[in-house]
Amino acid sequence: MTVNAESSISVAGWRDLPAAQQPDYPDQDALRGVIEDLQGYPPLVFAGECDQLRERLGAVARGEAFLLQGGDCAEAFDQVGADQIRAKLKTLLQMSAVLTYAASVPVVKVGRIAGQYSKPRSKPVETRDGVTLPSYRGDSVNGPEFTAEARTPDPERLRRMYHASAATLNLVRGFTTGGYADLRQVHAWNQDFVRTSASGQRYEVLAREIDRALSFMQACGADPAEFHSVEFYASHEALLLDYEAALTRVDSRSGKLYDVSGHMVWVGERTRQLDGAHIEFVSGIRNPLGVKLGPSTTVEEALTLIDRLDPEREPGRLTFITRMGADRIRDRLPDLVEKVTASGAQVAWVCDPMHGNTFEAASGHKTRRFDDVLDEVKGFFEVHHGLGTHPGGIHVELTGDDVTECVGGGNEIFVDDLHQRYETACDPRLNRSQSLDLAFLVAEMYRA
Ligand code: PEP
Ligand code: MN
Repeated sequence: MTVNAESSISVAGWRDLPAAQQPDYPDQDALRGVIEDLQGYPPLVFAGECDQLRERLGAVARGEAFLLQGGDCAEAFDQVGADQIRAKLKTLLQMSAVLTYAASVPVVKVGRIAGQYSKPRSKPVETRDGVTLPSYRGDSVNGPEFTAEARTPDPERLRRMYHASAATLNLVRGFTTGGYADLRQVHAWNQDFVRTSASGQRYEVLAREIDRALSFMQACGADPAEFHSVEFYASHEALLLDYEAALTRVDSRSGKLYDVSGHMVWVGERTRQLDGAHIEFVSGIRNPLGVKLGPSTTVEEALTLIDRLDPEREPGRLTFITRMGADRIRDRLPDLVEKVTASGAQVAWVCDPMHGNTFEAASGHKTRRFDDVLDEVKGFFEVHHGLGTHPGGIHVELTGDDVTECVGGGNEIFVDDLHQRYETACDPRLNRSQSLDLAFLVAEMYRA
């Protein structure tokens, strides 16, 4: 890997195009200084790992694997601690164990983690009591406190994002390969959930089947290495192009460019303009890519995105993450899937059942109903089953902690409970129990 590549082979074309949702830094010299430093920092991930994930996602696109992608809406610098990271990972591993068994296909595990610090906002400013300040854009840009000082974009935060991502990734690598992720232990956690959760009995049959399957394997003397460690990948929205470009390097093996800030990066619903900087930037890197598709997406846009981002029609290169809303998915998704499939492209289709289902509760909290989340996933499965295409995975905002941010679920959270533990830095997340509920319910859909 040679240090920063923009001068040799280039991802610089994006600089001539309009880039939505970028911070307005008051001190451009300070920004340049930080970027120069970032260009010299070591990669956070390696090109070979990105290639391996692209292969795994190829299996998803071909219908041979399922993607579980999840984590915070926005990571926060003050949440980079062993307990929080462990709890998130544990929840994802528990969900994955259930889904692997139910679907009898490999589950590709990708966190919204170790880099998910930047947020697109629907409004550039926020007004409180007659005072107007820039919106909070994630810890990589400014602080959430409502003061002029905190809300002023500070490029030093890009450096902090790099270090927070490195520390997180280091712990994730330790947990996933160092014995913590042992399948028998993950299963024991799930048994515990089934025993102690309000809706747990519903899942008893499935949990018992998994237990029998594991006991059978053990009785046979089978103890594959795959039981002891897991492959886990990091992903985030490629929003701040200065940061992503500073971490884009030439892979010495292939001579190709990789954004080494994360294994997979995606372009969000607000920045996926075909003539914009974000699509141009990601078209130049070899990482597996995601693009969020909201309810206004046209077939033509989807086909053009494929031409731009996956001209070779390589399964695993491009994942479409649809986020239509529970009330629209059955309407909006079929045409897209049908026409994209007819075009011969093999993208992976993944359901984000969160972002189309956000509303403001009477209490003023931004929230989501667990039933809407579930209904969008149901609609996603129905559409794909109807067309004979593969429902490739789910993309969810979750935390391993017992927060009260989304309403409903087996341990029901009511609107009046939201204030109790509403901790998200941005959008409302499923808590641990709601996430496991979702995994068991998606597992049931698989078998239906
Ligand atoms: C997100 O994933 O947090 C997000 C902002 O999503 P979208 O781009 O789909 O709105
Ligand atoms: Mn979000």
